[in-house]
Formats: sequence, structure tokens, C-alpha cells
Amino acid sequence: MGKLFNELKQDILYQHGMNACLNCGVCTAVCPAAEFNDYSPREVMNICQSEDDELIEELLKSDKIWYCGQCFSCKTRCPRGNSTASVILALRRLSVRHGYFAESEKGRQQLFAKRVFGENMLKRGYTLLAENITPAHFPELGENWEYYYEHMAEMREWWDVPMNLENSPGSHRVIPEQDMEELRAIYQATGAIELMDAVEKGMEKKLGSKAEVEKYWQTWVETGDSRNYEIDENK
Ligand code: SF4
Ligand code: SF4
Repeated sequence: MGKLFNELKQDILYQHGMNACLNCGVCTAVCPAAEFNDYSPREVMNICQSEDDELIEELLKSDKIWYCGQCFSCKTRCPRGNSTASVILALRRLSVRHGYFAESEKGRQQLFAKRVFGENMLKRGYTLLAENITPAHFPELGENWEYYYEHMAEMREWWDVPMNLENSPGSHRVIPEQDMEELRAIYQATGAIELMDAVEKGMEKKLGSKAEVEKYWQTWVETGDSRNYEIDENK
């Protein structure tokens, strides 16, 4: 049993999710993510249960742990009451803490999660703001969204849901500062801020500098696909 596994088993989500896996494969049979990706919850459970640090590290560096959609279908059907969904969350935490997430393309999407969902949450109290949903990145939303995006301010006035007022009706009202302070304190106390910092540090280590992380980010913002940034694996 190695250091990584030791750290994994300290995680409360791992303790809740893993009893003893009998490798029956029911979770993989019902998993919607397994149907479309190179992913198997049974395999994830098997690797964890091996307690083998080499295999666990390989898993933490792979795309696999990021495919799970957290639907919890596996949990409701497991004959042993395991929850791969919870084990996956513990693995993701471990992957971010050690910077392994930056080794995989799906893992690197944590930068987006941190800079958009995480930072929005700390600034405004929402994971996603309408302003983030640009028509260029979400063309499938069609002309109605294009119109709304361009006329957001006046339409909100018209609906009487202004964005700059505390506790106005509707979504995206301003959250009072006292509540925001409580929210930030929760993020601090639960270690979420630490994980958000680890995402920036992990990306910097992978790409070589803060400037490269910004280039990577800009490529994503401008083209909607981070794969357009070519990673120099020899750095
Ligand atoms: S359904 Fe439960 S026991 Fe069966 S492979 Fe999945 S986690 Fe293991
Ligand atoms: S929670 Fe994740 S692993 Fe479980 S069935 Fe849903 S997608 Fe699959």
C-alpha cells in the first residue's frame, strides 16, 4: 500500500463510496459515460482496490476520471452499496492536489471549471452567468439567445429583473455581501480554495510558466477549444 492510496483512503468520499467491490460489472453496464467513452467504473474500482500506487497514479493522469457525469446510477444498482461516483470525486481531488490532472486533456478542463464556475461563485455567488454563454461558443442556442445576449441589459429592465440590485426577483440578483462572505468562508474551510489554487499551479507546472497558462486560456476563450493550443511535451 503506497502513499497515494493512503491519501485516497483518508478522503471521506472514498470511505463512503468503497465498501468492497466484487467486480461484477453492473456499474459499467448501467453507466451512461461508459457507453460512449473509454471508461469503466468497474475498472476504476478495481484499480483503487488494488492499492497499487503506480496504477492509481496512471489513473489520476488519465482522461478516465473526468468522464463520469455524476448521475449516481452506479450507486443505486451496486450489490455492495458502493458508489463509484463518490470514489471518482475523491480521485479527482487527489489528481488536482498532486497536479496529475494537467497530464490529460479532460483533466486540463479543470482550468475552465476553476476560472469560470469557481471564480464566478466567489465573485457573484453563481457558478454560471449568462454573460459567459457567448453565442460564438454556443451556436446551438440559436437566434433567440443571440438576441438576448446583445440586448441583455434592456431585456432585464423590461422584465424588471435588474442585475445590480440586491435580492431583486429572478436569477442573477446581487447576493448581499454578508452572504458572500459566508460563502467564501465555506470555500476556505472545505479546502475548495486550496484546490482552485492547485489547478493554477498544476497548469503552470505542466505548461512551464504563468504566461503559457494565459496563452492556453486565451486559445480556449478565442477558439472554444483548448486543443488548439499545442502542448510541448518536451518542456
Ligand atoms: S456494481 Fe459494485 S460490486 Fe459490481 S463492479 Fe461495480 S462497484 Fe464493484
Ligand atoms: S455516476 Fe459516473 S460512474 Fe456512476 S453511472 Fe453515472 S456516469 Fe457512470
